[in-house]
Amino acid sequence: MGGVANPVILTIDDDPAVSRAVARDMRRRYGDRYRVVRAGSGPSALETLRELKLRGEQVAVLVADYRMPEMTGIEFLEEAMDLFPAARRVLLTAYADTEAAIDAINLVDLDHYLLKPWHPPEEKLYPVVDTLLDAWATTPEAAAAELRVVGHRWSAPSFAIRDFLARNLVPYRWLLADDSEGGRLLKAADATVDDVPVVIAPDGTHLARPTEAELAALVGLRVAPTEEFYDLVVVGGGPAGLGAAVYGASEGLRTVLVERRATGGQAGQSSRIENYLGFPEGVSGAQLTDRARRQALKFGAELLTTREVTGLTEAGSARLLTFGDGSTIAAHAVVLATGVSYRVLDAPGLAELTGRGVFYGSAATEAPSCVDQEVYIVGGANSAGQAAVHFSRYAKRVHLLIRGADLTASMSRYLIDQLDRIDRVVVHPHTVVAAGAGTEHLERLTLADTRSGETREVDASWLFIFIGAQPRTDWLDGVLVRDERGFVVTGPDLVAGGRRPPGWSLTRDPYHLETSMPGVFAAGDVRAESVKRVASAVGEGAMAVSLVHRYLESR
Ligand SMILES: Cc1cc2nc3c(=O)[nH]c(=O)nc-3n(C[C@H](O)[C@H](O)[C@H](O)COP(=O)(O)OP(=O)(O)OC[C@H]3O[C@@H](n4cnc5c(N)ncnc54)[C@H](O)[C@@H]3O)c2cc1C
Repeated sequence: MGGVANPVILTIDDDPAVSRAVARDMRRRYGDRYRVVRAGSGPSALETLRELKLRGEQVAVLVADYRMPEMTGIEFLEEAMDLFPAARRVLLTAYADTEAAIDAINLVDLDHYLLKPWHPPEEKLYPVVDTLLDAWATTPEAAAAELRVVGHRWSAPSFAIRDFLARNLVPYRWLLADDSEGGRLLKAADATVDDVPVVIAPDGTHLARPTEAELAALVGLRVAPTEEFYDLVVVGGGPAGLGAAVYGASEGLRTVLVERRATGGQAGQSSRIENYLGFPEGVSGAQLTDRARRQALKFGAELLTTREVTGLTEAGSARLLTFGDGSTIAAHAVVLATGVSYRVLDAPGLAELTGRGVFYGSAATEAPSCVDQEVYIVGGANSAGQAAVHFSRYAKRVHLLIRGADLTASMSRYLIDQLDRIDRVVVHPHTVVAAGAGTEHLERLTLADTRSGETREVDASWLFIFIGAQPRTDWLDGVLVRDERGFVVTGPDLVAGGRRPPGWSLTRDPYHLETSMPGVFAAGDVRAESVKRVASAVGEGAMAVSLVHRYLESR
């Protein structure tokens, strides 16, 4: 059989009559574009999903009955998420089970629960499934069916491509250039091992050593604005920016969000956020980002990826933002939500090995490569602790290197307790990395004791660094008031001493999150004195939008 198979809608029910009825109703409406597959139990459905995965097929929607003997629908959906995270999830329930269904919304990131019976389907089934299929079809996951990346194992450019795709939640197949299949693909693309990384789209289009912007366009991420003027431009696609985009667009503002790299920001890097309200089981950064992104798009916000903002100026009542390539975009108001970036560990040898064994942040793409290996993590804050928990699932041992005597001053109690329970994690107090060495990949680290100055060498292939972060706001120098560390000063802090900031043209004081340029607000980690949390970033994004309304009304 040639061509690409239609994406699958999988229905699971142990009652043959119900199973037939769901499949029949689904086929009637979607049979021309989707392949409706049914299974009689959770385990057999999982088996089917594994086969589909191996064959490189796509799954758009999963509809599982809640009450099934071997495995409940919730248990099934939880396992299915590991195989097809982008598939939309529906639980079929009887009226008596709605409590369980509501609980499942958090547990398995459920998209919808459908009460049995669903007749007439035109009213109760199809509108739900239509919305879910639309949502799935607009994800890069759908657009990127069979995206393949051919590269070298220990190569920083190949890592950069994979990291970019992972951060943007785009699935891909990774092939080594010196493997037979990788070699065949290179030949088909008229490329050689010197051209890698080579990215091949499902329709055969291929790019050698693409830039991030070229890659974004290839996988269907928007990179250019559709208009020249907006009500609101949000700069930065972390939780604060996504929060502002959701509130802005849902409240009728023509909103565009501009992101330098990948939506999700720092939170998108977190393997498990345990303390975000409403997610008692915790939520991965990728899941939270996926939901927020869909929510912003649903309300009509435009999300641009791989576009860095490098300038901000006042042009009458408009605010003008300049991109790295010199083009501009204008708006009535701006929310700056550019967060912070990792601080670089300045030790000899590390810069050359970044992306080849040395990583900033948890670099989730690398975790499976660390199986049975010794992993070194630098840092004593929560982000390092989360990474240690995450890598302990793969590594033989995780070494957490900290400057202090213990973790109590820098890490949350729940994480310290979690680490205490994992034998594979070893905390090394008073220890820093003095140097790294290796030819193709990191091979050795020199560790130093901060009290005695004594050094020792260890064999190490993996180093993950979490040593705090700083705002990247140099481009705002002389434009906005920033504190000595570069964080943007807002609201009452600008009028300390009773004087308004230089150049402030209005007769009122700046609003709470407003910067020293009227109509430009700052939200989240980039703001001076902000609380560095996902919840506060989202909250400030929402609050900034309500202040934008106040600003627009008062002009
Ligand atoms: C590994 C890790 C784990 C964490 N775990 C937790 C947790 O469990 N609980 C918790 O509450 N907090 C946690 N945090 C902190 C939390 O993620 C941050 O406080 C939060 O992400 C801040 O959101 P933000 O939107 O302000 O900034 P960021 O998340 O930093 O996002 C800023 C975005 O702006 C983009 N950007 C920057 N400059 C530009 C520019 N000039 N043009 C365009 N785009 C730009 C960046 O690429 C980035 O995507 C964690 C952080 C890390 C790193």
